[in-house]
Amino acid sequence: DPVLSLEGITKTYAKGSANPVAVLRGVDLTIQPGEVVALVAPSGAGKSTLLHIAGLLDTPDQGQVTLAGQALTGQSDRRRTRARREDVGFIYQFHHLLPEFSALENVVLPQLANGVARAEAVTRASDLLSRVGVGARADHRPAALSGGEQQRVAFCRALANEPRLLLADEPTGNLDPATSDQVFDALMTLVRSTGMAALIATHNMELAGRMDRMLRLEAGQLG
Ligand code: ADP
Ligand code: ADP
Repeated sequence: DPVLSLEGITKTYAKGSANPVAVLRGVDLTIQPGEVVALVAPSGAGKSTLLHIAGLLDTPDQGQVTLAGQALTGQSDRRRTRARREDVGFIYQFHHLLPEFSALENVVLPQLANGVARAEAVTRASDLLSRVGVGARADHRPAALSGGEQQRVAFCRALANEPRLLLADEPTGNLDPATSDQVFDALMTLVRSTGMAALIATHNMELAGRMDRMLRLEAGQLG
């Protein structure tokens, strides 16, 4: 089964106004387990909208979103929220870590919210942080970490509950080029070692070229 399937997705903002914005005009996409797909799009093309629809944060006007075998368009908010919590991890350009908690706690907390026992959550968090080279920084708060370290911690948090699908919106867009390269390598190592599928939006063609497949979002369609 594909991890994610989008069929005939359309989305228009400001419908009924003088200037409706037809952002998605029939998007089809299938991602298999373990596949890492690059999403390349000019600013304003609808990349965030597409990621939000794929991750069940937003609903399409038409079309079907199927996540891990469950057709979720038109299902209750409760069911969509549960599917999102169980199956999807999000990464953004900015880390959105909780400032008053340590790096470790930031990776532990979402696991506790998901019913994982504390000892197991701590073990899993420590392991994830070590795998991306920030194990020695686990007890620091985000403000004491560099931008690249903060972003690595955010990756660990997104993967802490072992989602089947990772959705990333410019995950290294806020970093200088050298840091961006290293942090991207760390992300790829993590994703590959878990075997999860990922859809990663980036403006960086070099990084996009290192993924399994590259899709462009243009004029509301993927190609
Ligand atoms: P990207 O992430 O590719 O920059 P977005 O998906 O954020 O693009 O937005 C695509 C287009 O839709 C942009 O023109 C944006 O201004 C518009 N847009 C996004 N969200 C809304 C909204 N809630 N209401 C109206 N227009 C929106
Ligand atoms: P991100 O990529 O982090 O989602 P954006 O700037 O694309 O950041 O959008 C932030 C939020 O604002 C999103 O929820 C998006 O739907 C909304 N948004 C974006 N563009 C518009 C717009 N033109 N009008 C209203 N809301 C918008």
